Amino acid sequence: MNFSVLTIFPEMVDPFLGYGIIRRAIEQKKISVSSVNIRDFAKGRHRVTDDKPYGGGCGMVMKPEPLSAAITHTQKNTPDSHTILLTPQGRPFTQDLAHDLSTLPGLILVCGRYEGTDERICHSLIDSEISIGDYVLTGGELAAMVIVDAVTRLIPGILGGEDSAEKESFENGLLEHAHFTRPQMFEGDEVPEVLLSGNHKEIDLWRLESSLMRTLLKRPELLEEKPLSRQEKEILKKWGRQIETLIHV
Ligand code: SAM
Repeated sequence: MNFSVLTIFPEMVDPFLGYGIIRRAIEQKKISVSSVNIRDFAKGRHRVTDDKPYGGGCGMVMKPEPLSAAITHTQKNTPDSHTILLTPQGRPFTQDLAHDLSTLPGLILVCGRYEGTDERICHSLIDSEISIGDYVLTGGELAAMVIVDAVTRLIPGILGGEDSAEKESFENGLLEHAHFTRPQMFEGDEVPEVLLSGNHKEIDLWRLESSLMRTLLKRPELLEEKPLSRQEKEILKKWGRQIETLIHV
């Protein structure tokens, strides 16, 4: 997978590439990440990339010519890539969308700044618009890095068996179960006994219950969308009966 990050601040991208799984993925040539400086495609001595908005108002808008030239140049170099504009007005970025993007040969991530980009960029050069959440950042660079990170870990062969993404939050419509590591006792708080039992069937059941409980308490709306297995329904019914008993004592 080839990621190209188009930005006026390419220096922001490089430090992020030097750590953990992303660094390993680059070293193993599973991904490549290149930053493209939009300013290099701006004309004139000052290489200006922004201008005042038509119609007046505050802030500046990213000019279409340098952006268009930078995008066209990158699309020529990586013709199979999918071009994404980062914008708070885009499709919300989710684990499902990360999975879809992880199957593509390349992503061109276009980072806006100021009040955003000239609208005409979207008319012909952009395949999709993505938002990383309902809040406004000062620029698209962090959003681009979020996408590089979340997509990279889903590319086959990037995570080892132990780090497998399959059981993680959102993969099966649930949040992941609670985790514990040594020491067995921490500030009077003990690791659940079943996790020390070595009984994998019991441990799997405990993990499923933990997963369901966390989802119910922290993100109940996920359960409304999830097709529940027979076992999951049984667990929820059991809790329902326990809650009924508590209410009626
Ligand atoms: N004026 C724009 C609006 O209200 O929709 C916001 C512009 S924002 C200050 C500048 C740039 O940051 C955007 O062009 C976009 O590239 C990036 N950005 C900000 N918030 C984002 C988000 N939630 N997801 C993705 N990109 C975002």
